[in-house]
Amino acid sequence: MKEYDYIVIGGGSGGIASANRAGMHGAKVLLIEGNKIGGTCVNVGCVPKKVMWQASSMLEMIERDAPSYGVQAAIEKFDFKELVARREKYIDFLHSAYDRGLDSNHVERIEGYATFKSDHVISVNGNDYTAPNVLIATGGRPSRMDISGGELAIDSNGFFELTEQPKEVVVLGAGYIAAELSGVLQGMGTQVHWAFRHSRPLRTFDKMLADHLVEIYRENKMNLYDHHVAKEIKQNSDGTYTVYFENGNSLTGDKVLFAGGRLPNTDKLGLENTSVTLNEKGFVIVDKYQNTTSEGVYAVGDVIGKLDLTPVAIAAGRRLSERIFNGKSEEFLDYDNVPTVIFTHPAIATIGLSEEAALERYGKDQIKIYHSRFTPMYFALSDYRQKCDMKLVCLGEEEKIIGLHAIGVGVDEMLQGFAVAIKMGATKKDFDDTVAIHPTGSEEFVTMR
Ligand code: FAD
Ligand code: NDP
Repeated sequence: MKEYDYIVIGGGSGGIASANRAGMHGAKVLLIEGNKIGGTCVNVGCVPKKVMWQASSMLEMIERDAPSYGVQAAIEKFDFKELVARREKYIDFLHSAYDRGLDSNHVERIEGYATFKSDHVISVNGNDYTAPNVLIATGGRPSRMDISGGELAIDSNGFFELTEQPKEVVVLGAGYIAAELSGVLQGMGTQVHWAFRHSRPLRTFDKMLADHLVEIYRENKMNLYDHHVAKEIKQNSDGTYTVYFENGNSLTGDKVLFAGGRLPNTDKLGLENTSVTLNEKGFVIVDKYQNTTSEGVYAVGDVIGKLDLTPVAIAAGRRLSERIFNGKSEEFLDYDNVPTVIFTHPAIATIGLSEEAALERYGKDQIKIYHSRFTPMYFALSDYRQKCDMKLVCLGEEEKIIGLHAIGVGVDEMLQGFAVAIKMGATKKDFDDTVAIHPTGSEEFVTMR
């Protein structure tokens, strides 16, 4: 049986980062990947999504916004197929970049699906491998719709397989993916009907964000339907699909896209042969050091079901390798105050507690909210004056900033710097003491009254 210092199962964001860092510190590392190197983010997540978001934003800019600056540019052709082909070529380039990185850190690779024979014996393609340290970084997959005809809906993986742009789409779900892909398609000219189960989408985020997103999507002719619980999907004789809802309504499109969360890839791992414990949803239970309940077996990324974000998986994977292979025994990832951007049209940027969560945790007397709503200069010359909404959630007398939320043009590129300040414990006074940059949108954050 071949022996290693570290076996990493899953060549996605977390697995690659951890394997590389371990290799950098001289460990003998084996990385096992059953599908394409790069995992969800590179192949069917962040990367192709951002490409589509950019294309969609470009079309929106040319059609909706450019005329207000005297630019009359008719779009002769938008070639969806070509966009997809170029996107996939870029992803191929990333595959080779990842391979080069792994080579330079002497990380050995095997293509195939790994299963545990016991806590430290891993089987791939009929061969067994062992190591004192094993990382589970197997990520997740889209959940399926558990209704009659649910299999007729495509998920985010199916979205990235499309080579023809749908004319009309029904989107079901209420999280990041439904919000992002609805915006991408609408910006490209597809008629989107977005239906969600409750009064608003993105319910775990500050209410201001979802309310404003709904308002802007409606201004841009998307159809949004709240309190819509799907009960059946049927294919029609013309090839279109109709979604029937419990309230009697129905919506038809040439595609139905379902994005209702993700499931962990733990069911086929042979974990029953180990002492690794899963929670009731199948996610791996870990402590703050990413230790599972089996000694020497760790887990990072989407498979732990904590914060499904690429930089989180990377940061946890790297810190883990620093701890195991570089003597930094106290290294761990702090999952608080992680900034995140939802690539909607316009983007949402958010970190820390929502106003609602802060009020619930600390009470009304301890929380002060600062809010600004303004028209970014980008829309200064336009009849269409899309608003930007920004909010600071402050705690106690010193007004420590415990939440920062924004929706509007350009907020995606504003957040990272503010996140550093918040992670360092910035107060409202620190923001006020910082001179504004004019004319920008971000200056609103340091001039709120
Ligand atoms: P993954 O990247 O999923 O990697 C797991 C790997 O393990 C996969 O390659 C899989 O094939 C492999 N594997 C599974 N089982 C086995 C096995 N038994 N043996 C061998 N290999 C196995 N995050 C952001 O931060 N920003 C974004 O903009 C963003 N956009 C997203 C858009 C979409 C549509 C989706 C779906 C996700 C997006 N995410 C985004 C989330 C991000 O992609 C994930 O959080 C990240 O990829 C998680 O990394 P991971 O290493 O945990 O898992
Ligand atoms: P999310 O967890 O973000 O949202 C899913 C939501 O869909 C649920 O909260 C629920 O909201 C709704 N839902 C669940 N089941 C159903 C159902 N049967 N019918 C209708 N609606 C349903 O999941 P996503 O799939 O959107 O994304 C997965 C994760 O990937 C995200 O949480 C995020 O961490 C990551 N991601 C990150 C991105 C980024 O960083 N920009 C982009 C894309 C994904 P409700 O209860 O209100 O109905």
